[in-house]
Amino acid sequence: MGFVLAEMTWPEVKEALRHVKLAVIPLGAHEQHGPHINESCDNVLAEQFARRLVDRLHPWAVMAPTIPFGISIHHIHFPGTITLRTETLIQVLRDVVWSLQQHGLNNFLIVNSHGGNQSLLGVACTQLSYELKARVCYAKTTASAKEAIRTHVKSALFGHSCEREVSEALYMAPHLVRQDQLQPGEIVEGKWRLLRPGQPIQGFYFYEEMTANGCIGNGPAGSFEAGAAIVEEALDRVEEAARQLFDLPKREEGN
Ligand SMILES: [Zn+2]
Repeated sequence: MGFVLAEMTWPEVKEALRHVKLAVIPLGAHEQHGPHINESCDNVLAEQFARRLVDRLHPWAVMAPTIPFGISIHHIHFPGTITLRTETLIQVLRDVVWSLQQHGLNNFLIVNSHGGNQSLLGVACTQLSYELKARVCYAKTTASAKEAIRTHVKSALFGHSCEREVSEALYMAPHLVRQDQLQPGEIVEGKWRLLRPGQPIQGFYFYEEMTANGCIGNGPAGSFEAGAAIVEEALDRVEEAARQLFDLPKREEGN
């Protein structure tokens, strides 16, 4: 199985570092996921995806501990949500990357499960790559599973506590899901539609302006099978890209 920093002793880490070329850093969020998924959803899914990725990339990759808070200000009016400020998250990422650099690592892949972190990661990777002279990259966990998403996700508006996310959870961490509480998004009309990706103008809006129950898409349509297809396709894509980007030898040569 892959190297997981939190479950190793320092002599084990020292030995692993003879092979490891890449640190995988899971990044999630602590925020509401409607009435049917736990608030830890993004943290658990980021970590589960990252574990599978370092298993595939063994012995060339190590998983760092999950960063359990992200940019969730747009969910803050729903009970329980905790957010970092953008500058805080950049500082946390900087300190994690800097620390791992002290142990000889210089390639970093942030595995992010939360859409609200994506624009910050563009900024953070630019800034940290330059300031720390490291290769700092990011991947949105399952966004690259284009075919499986086309097959299994039918909602025009999806991406939060929707059929995609319910499916991923049913596949990787079913304890997150209240199967008897599954609901479709209760969409509220408003100016948020004018600010969606692809519109001429983009900007900020709170989640309750868009959905009354905190969900979008159609959670009840989620399934284990859809989750398997989505997660495994995304793992194939991210694994292949990471091998090329970080010059990681093929599995056979590594074992
Ligand atoms: Zn989520």
